Amino acid sequence: MIRLAPPVRDFEQDYRDLVGTRTAAVQLTLNSASRRVFRAYGQYADHTGNATFLSPIKWRLPGRSEALFSNYVVLRGSALYGELLAIGGARCPMCGFGEVSTLDHHLPRTAFPEFAILALNLVPACGRCNQLKGTHVGLEPGVQFLHPFFDSLAVVPVLRCKFSVLAGSALIEFRIRHTYRVAEDVLSRVRFQFSRLRLADRFRAEALAEIGERRTTFLQYATAKGPVGLRDYLRTESRGYVAAHGPNHWKSALYRSLARNNAFLSGGYEQIAIQIPVAPTSSQ
Ligand SMILES: [Zn+2]
Repeated sequence: MIRLAPPVRDFEQDYRDLVGTRTAAVQLTLNSASRRVFRAYGQYADHTGNATFLSPIKWRLPGRSEALFSNYVVLRGSALYGELLAIGGARCPMCGFGEVSTLDHHLPRTAFPEFAILALNLVPACGRCNQLKGTHVGLEPGVQFLHPFFDSLAVVPVLRCKFSVLAGSALIEFRIRHTYRVAEDVLSRVRFQFSRLRLADRFRAEALAEIGERRTTFLQYATAKGPVGLRDYLRTESRGYVAAHGPNHWKSALYRSLARNNAFLSGGYEQIAIQIPVAPTSSQ
């Protein structure tokens, strides 16, 4: 759940450049469609890719949708594809840890072929998030995904992490908290995305692995400076992740939580270290 700066490009020129590489017959079709496509591009930007306010173009002539849909296949072989893949860095903005390996159509090209190659609609993502997101189109905030180019969670922490020790075993739980400091429609999208992308399970697996790998470091700080020294170290880590990725990256939430947790500071990290992270089991 990381915000990305939207690509600054001439989107109409991108369209013209790509159409210019297609066969003469397809070029005729796509050139004749361009006026309506460009109008739709403007609406996409005005409404930040929100399907509530955007309707797919209804083409009267045959072949338009298919030609627009297949533009993306051509894009994948172009230099522009690599440029768009690289704009957000190496990590997926939807989960914050998966390696970017694909472009996700925020509005799927099956429903909106006119946006198949619009850079604003192409979000660098990991394969798992792209697969889980699928071709879903939500018309209301409660069933919509966040748009990494437009939806801002830059300031307010809504991702919460809770660490506890129960019967000798450490537990980690991620959830979305309610706050009036974030608009209700944005919060609804956060909750939907958190559920659909199975982020509670995926964050927990990452967090268990993270703590297991950092156990020796935690132990060094605790041994040298006691729980307060460990707390200060965890706070510094949290601030670093907030500065780099915002307050709703899973590591920001994890370290913020651990720094406040007496059970962890007084040796709870040892309980985590003996656990083996398991694959996500949720079927939500
Ligand atoms: Zn991802």
